[in-house]
Amino acid sequence: MKTIELNNGIKMPLLGYGVYLVSPQDCERCVRDAIRTGYRLIDTAQAYYNEEGVGAAIQACGVPRSELFLTTKVWISNSGEERAAHSIDESLRKLRTDYIDLLLVHQPFGDYYGTYRTMERAYRAGKVRAIGLSNFYGARFVDLAENMDIKPAVLQLETHVFAQQKEMRGLMAEYGTRLMAWGPLAQGSDALFTDATLKAIGAKHGKTNAQIALKFLMDEGIVAIPKSAHVERMVENLDIDGFELTADERDAIRRLDTGMTKADFNDPAMAKYLLEYDKCFNPGN
Ligand code: NAD
Repeated sequence: MKTIELNNGIKMPLLGYGVYLVSPQDCERCVRDAIRTGYRLIDTAQAYYNEEGVGAAIQACGVPRSELFLTTKVWISNSGEERAAHSIDESLRKLRTDYIDLLLVHQPFGDYYGTYRTMERAYRAGKVRAIGLSNFYGARFVDLAENMDIKPAVLQLETHVFAQQKEMRGLMAEYGTRLMAWGPLAQGSDALFTDATLKAIGAKHGKTNAQIALKFLMDEGIVAIPKSAHVERMVENLDIDGFELTADERDAIRRLDTGMTKADFNDPAMAKYLLEYDKCFNPGN
């Protein structure tokens, strides 16, 4: 598995497995399948309500913990110094581990400065090997990166062939922050699986649109975490070594970029939706 080096020197796999919308019941089986298939990076979050499944899988999988790379994220309802501290300990307990490889602030809402300060403390205490952000754009990202002692090692953003995050990648380079793509298959959009450019390139290499889309991200040095509950797709998404995209092919894929994401984190309706989501699952808050 190819790796990248983060701004604090630790290594992170370039391809991993995400478990958003994998039910708590299915999660252990899915993560065990993913690890058996060869994935070593697993991406979960407090708000996915399946950290226990990930923990059970990593305990039972037979692969040493040191060979796995676990990412989780602090949710809005756990923002602020005290709540975040408690939630990190809860995540460690649910994940059945004494350290998290990468911990992210999940959303740019709530007291995320307090959360980040707590994450810095967890990092110094050895509970976390790297810290970063998710869904922070533009000025919000710069403000936090400028003001915090530990520069974000990773920023997780919606990224795929139609949303290549060129502007953000320029900003992130100033802080040595690496891009991690959520929704790397455009969240299962038909537009990606039927795209003619990807199809023509795939035909030359005997690969599917999904494989070409993931290979492109890997070539750009972007970590991708495609999700599938099906073993054949887990295998397909991992099977992207053993061929190379040409410079012309990469250029053609670069031209698919629309500069637009599906999710807009500057939209007040998005903030309200995420705060409602939070209330749904945490009626006491
Ligand atoms: P994705 O781009 O990984 O697409 C997943 C969809 O594509 C699923 O419906 C799956 O069945 C389908 N699929 C997967 N492989 C396929 C293949 N080879 N052929 C055909 N269909 C295939 O979208 P995602 O799950 O939303 O994103 C991946 C991961 O990113 C998540 O699981 C989660 O870990 C993370 N994520 C993070 C955030 C965030 O706010 N930070 C948001 C969404 C997702």
